[in-house]
Amino acid sequence: MQTLLDGYRKFRADTWPEKRRVFEELAEKGQKPKALVLGCVDSRANPGVIFSAGPGELLVARNVANFIPAYGSAAMCYGTAAAVEFGVRVLEIPNILVLGHQKCGGVSALLNGVPDTAQEFVAPWMAAAEEARRRAAEEQDPDRRQLLAEQEVIKLSLANLAGFPWIAERITDGRLRLSGAWFSIYSGTLSLLQEDGSFRDIV
Ligand SMILES: [Zn+2]
Repeated sequence: MQTLLDGYRKFRADTWPEKRRVFEELAEKGQKPKALVLGCVDSRANPGVIFSAGPGELLVARNVANFIPAYGSAAMCYGTAAAVEFGVRVLEIPNILVLGHQKCGGVSALLNGVPDTAQEFVAPWMAAAEEARRRAAEEQDPDRRQLLAEQEVIKLSLANLAGFPWIAERITDGRLRLSGAWFSIYSGTLSLLQEDGSFRDIV
């Protein structure tokens, strides 16, 4: 808790005086973020840090392994789906980015088994991403398999998002665009998902 309070004091001393007008304007006029980022809860892959986002700039929803279950499936998580519905149908955000990352513990659990202490919720959650595990399963090298599975979870989440009827409708008429990206914790580089299914570093 002390770390949080120290961070808050730093925010009040440094950031607040500088951004006060921005916060006041956002409070008066409401938010109009240009992108919704669906990321992982991992503390090393913070969308606000990666995209240098200030207040009001990004709507962010995070869960274990940046996973979006299929529309109407049993694993559909109301928390994440509610964030998507709010961003897309209420705020009319024109971009959704699914952001995966290196060394994802959720993806590692999907590949190598969920820890005994996380059987209640993490196990059924990651089981819903089985399709991504299956697609990466044939790779023999463990590091390469982990990377492939991280990328497959991003692709599966995007495909599942595209199956939400009100998202499909907006993609068709050009109001909404879906993208995928993967962040390397070691190098700090971001790779963007391409049309051909590969990931390419942004230079
Ligand atoms: Zn993760």
